[in-house]
Amino acid sequence: MLKVVFLGPPGAGKGTQAVRIAEKYNVPHISTGDILRAAVKEGTELGKLAKEYMDKGELVPDDVIIGIIRERLSQSDVRERGFILDGFPRTLPQAEALDKMLAELGLPLDKVVYLNVDDEEIVKRLLARGRADDTEEVIRNRLEVYRKQTAPLIDYYSEKGILVEICGVGEIDEITKKIEESLGLNG
Ligand code: ADP
Repeated sequence: MLKVVFLGPPGAGKGTQAVRIAEKYNVPHISTGDILRAAVKEGTELGKLAKEYMDKGELVPDDVIIGIIRERLSQSDVRERGFILDGFPRTLPQAEALDKMLAELGLPLDKVVYLNVDDEEIVKRLLARGRADDTEEVIRNRLEVYRKQTAPLIDYYSEKGILVEICGVGEIDEITKKIEESLGLNG
């Protein structure tokens, strides 16, 4: 059982590392970005709404995202195996809502893995990735949103004593190893 949040700027490698750990240790990987992109692709009501925000590099409203996570966390695989949250929480209200949900489920967080990558490297990576929301102007906005709305979560979890900071620059394998160590996994 692993109950972990991956935190960090866009392009830090949260998704890459979260998938690796999730597959290796058979833990559900919950990515709000993936869930929203799937909804956009399917053209659902959620997708139409989310697209408006994602295209501008803005955050989808808290109540919408919290609703998605509440539903996902209530499923049996989470109760049995835990979770790796990737891209949630991204705001203080989301973090507080998560605490409440996890308390109700009796599944408190083990650790928050903060993948730290400098701005210059981030812009380079996102431009190279070339996703629909990876244009220079949208990237700049996402970084701004990250700094204002998400970065305060570093202190929030640090004060709770569950934050581990990992440098996200270097070989992907090496970073995975550092994450495993920080989570007390064997590797
Ligand atoms: P990145 O790879 O840049 O970290 P994600 O794939 O996690 O981006 O998310 C892409 C977009 O989806 C975000 O820019 C945002 O518009 C929306 N989104 C994802 N997660 C959340 C969330 N927890 N709260 C609000 N919006 C979100």
